[in-house]
Amino acid sequence: MKFAGTDLAHLDTDYDVCIVGSGPAGFTTALELKGSGLSVCILESGTETPTSAIDDLKFVESEGLRIREDSRERALGGTSLTWSGFVAPLDAIDFEPRRGIHDGWPVSRSEIQSNIDNLGYRYIMPSADAFEYDREAVGENCRIPTLPSLDPKVFRTQTPPFRYGRTFRHTFLPENFDLFLGATVVKFAWHREMTREVVDAAVVADASGRFHEVRARTFVLAASAIESVRILLNSDNLGNAHDQVGRYFMNHPKGNVGSVIFSNALTPSHELFERKYQNFSGYVGLRLKEGLQREQGDLNSYIRLEITRDEGNFPKAKELSKAFRSTLKAIGRGDFRGAGLSGISMIRRADGLGQIIVRAVKRMRNSNIRLVKTARLRCFVEMEPIPDHRITLTDRRDRFGVPLPKVSHTVSEHALRSVERLISKIEKEFAQTNFGKVYRAQGALADLLSADASHHLGGARMGEDPTSSVVDPSLRVHSSDNLYIAGGAVFPTGGNANPTLTIVGLSIRLAKVIKDRMGHRAETAAQSHGAGIIIVGAGRRVSEDIVPAVECLAPRAHIKGIYATKRKTVFGPTAAHEVIPLSGLSEKEIASSRLVYVAVPPEKLQSVLEKFLNYNCKHLTLVVETPAVDAKAVRGAYDQFGRVVVAEDSAYLPWLDLLTGQRRVVRADFDRSGYRYHAVAMARALAGDSGQRPRLVSARGKRNDIEVRFDGGLAGRIRGPRDYDNGRILFQTVSGRTVSSHPVAGHTQIRSLISGNLCVGFELEGEVVHLSEPESRLLGRFGNGDTIVSRMLDIKRVALYRLLEGILTGNAGYTLAEAVEDASQRW
Ligand SMILES: Cc1cc2nc3c(=O)[nH]c(=O)nc-3n(C[C@H](O)[C@H](O)[C@H](O)COP(=O)(O)OP(=O)(O)OC[C@H]3O[C@@H](n4cnc5c(N)ncnc54)[C@H](O)[C@@H]3O)c2cc1C
Repeated sequence: MKFAGTDLAHLDTDYDVCIVGSGPAGFTTALELKGSGLSVCILESGTETPTSAIDDLKFVESEGLRIREDSRERALGGTSLTWSGFVAPLDAIDFEPRRGIHDGWPVSRSEIQSNIDNLGYRYIMPSADAFEYDREAVGENCRIPTLPSLDPKVFRTQTPPFRYGRTFRHTFLPENFDLFLGATVVKFAWHREMTREVVDAAVVADASGRFHEVRARTFVLAASAIESVRILLNSDNLGNAHDQVGRYFMNHPKGNVGSVIFSNALTPSHELFERKYQNFSGYVGLRLKEGLQREQGDLNSYIRLEITRDEGNFPKAKELSKAFRSTLKAIGRGDFRGAGLSGISMIRRADGLGQIIVRAVKRMRNSNIRLVKTARLRCFVEMEPIPDHRITLTDRRDRFGVPLPKVSHTVSEHALRSVERLISKIEKEFAQTNFGKVYRAQGALADLLSADASHHLGGARMGEDPTSSVVDPSLRVHSSDNLYIAGGAVFPTGGNANPTLTIVGLSIRLAKVIKDRMGHRAETAAQSHGAGIIIVGAGRRVSEDIVPAVECLAPRAHIKGIYATKRKTVFGPTAAHEVIPLSGLSEKEIASSRLVYVAVPPEKLQSVLEKFLNYNCKHLTLVVETPAVDAKAVRGAYDQFGRVVVAEDSAYLPWLDLLTGQRRVVRADFDRSGYRYHAVAMARALAGDSGQRPRLVSARGKRNDIEVRFDGGLAGRIRGPRDYDNGRILFQTVSGRTVSSHPVAGHTQIRSLISGNLCVGFELEGEVVHLSEPESRLLGRFGNGDTIVSRMLDIKRVALYRLLEGILTGNAGYTLAEAVEDASQRW
């Protein structure tokens, strides 16, 4: 990332792509443009966390159904900051043309779904381990009574729900991306060329109200449905030649339409209720079978069964036990008046004691006794697209002079009739199967179904015909060649599914369109970029150090694949990588790679290396982690590789270069500042002024306090256990000075050079080692109080980058012989 912050003075004069909004739509599009070589700028009106200071910017007037104030967020990551994370795909019927209702989608369901299946879940449920969880536990294969007219549909979420801003705040963008926060787009500046509308710039207000122009070749409007429409309408009716902008607004109005009393009480873990499994949960919605919907011309609404709060609990038991504990406590304190009052309260609550005891006895006999007798029926309505349900601008303006929007929509008669038929079917078929009796809620359905589900859809609908839609199937505004819209605004129909999964699928597809049209292909670009590196392992070392270091080596190297036992996604600073089972590693992959980095626990190394025995690996450099060199059994397996290097990054810490010449070290004391072998590697690097690392000749002492001595006279002490927060390093130099990692009176300190919030190098007595830009980014934010020990792990990431860079140019490498020698010392 080139820049992330609020200061618009960092704006470049020109970008390839400018994305407005950093919610799921904008962020996914940006993430999918990674590696394309395109320069991308994201303009986000909010900051890292929502502030009331900009709440007035998202004010909206409502006519009919009320748009909830908290239904949209202005912050990094957009509304994913507060969403519940439930996902479900749209149904087949949502894509079909339906006579008298809608024309369906101009793209197929399978096309959207293929984007979701390939990549979409990683952005929305990244910890789902590629969905290898117990599907039944969250309702996938739910067993519900046979209800001839109804189909179950599963909605799932993970806990906590995926937050775009938090996940991608620091790591999501490659070098040529800028992210501006507090950058509110007020309109687009555009001109007409023949019949085409060419967008020149996004006009942006910064936090202090100054206006700037952001120029780009292509613009993506991803500011959520209401705000995207508002920006278009405020841009002198850009894209609105046929008065379509703002029309066909939809939502999923929701509400309680009744309750059911079950004939036989159910366990709370019944398939029809929300159920949790590890960090996932899911629930089932009941909708009319699609055949019936087609036959009756009904919309695709659904009803779920929700356990009310006091069902399945023992409130009386809880209160009783609380009162009992208070009584005991009061007696313990000698507070007999308090004890008396608590006691009375206890007796009052004990009126249901008999019932509680009976339940407790039953519970002992059957652990599922927390039975549920009743549940409420919660309905989510499909609204059909209606041209007069629309977003318009009012006369009131926000602080930047942009007119505030008004949203007009109501639940149509048609939608209400569909819901009515759905309730009737549930009522009838629950009764026929003796499952339960449905009781309707009091009041008119239209009043019951009036809550904003915060699923704002339509307003810039997708279609082939410019007279009835705003964007074409590629999401490009019909009248423009360089403006695209991402997000729920483009949905031609709303179905009943929570929309973000589909939004993400559409954004992945949009990024492909942009890459194709702008003459870039990320995948081929990545593949033609430098040496291929195969990574085996997917633990923290891989995700936190190896992947970031390798990605920073681009274009000199790229990750060919990450292989491990479990499927998952590893997020690097510029790319997300699907982890592939090791059994999928092919000869072709091996033949086209330069380096294999194996980062697995020592006991697994043997089986991993055996996988390579069948192939010619003489062209490959194998990189192994230091602890693995202890695994004696695998030594033979190393022979099949052209070269073996140990990833002992401590020997490549950038600041070590300061300790040469007059500052050559004669004694090094590592006080809780590294594992033994890391400290030995640092000392070896210091002692090897001539470029040749000296041998460790002796190591004596107790496990946590060892004296070491190297060829050439360097001595040192290594004290454990490692504690980077409080640890220290002291060096005695050949000229008699003491150099320290921390400020100590009378010592010279190795200091970090800070620029902005990044460390750009290290300094000792006026001599400096500089970090390159990728290295500073690898290190991450750096504060003035940080030291070379407190940030050891991050600096080691930079060292790993240097080590890998050296290996690729054939220079560096901690040899197997060196590491084996270190490991074989008797400590
Ligand atoms: C309480 C709640 C629960 C929800 N639960 C679910 C759920 O379970 N499942 C589901 O699928 N969906 C859910 N949603 C809806 C979901 O959050 C949205 O579908 C999703 O966030 C839409 O993504 P987006 O990127 O299109 O818009 P947003 O996430 O709203 O992002 C738009 C971004 O654009 C920025 N922006 C706006 N105007 C401007 C401007 N003028 N200039 C620059 N930037 C601008 C905003 O600050 C924001 O960051 C829920 C919503 C809410 C409120």
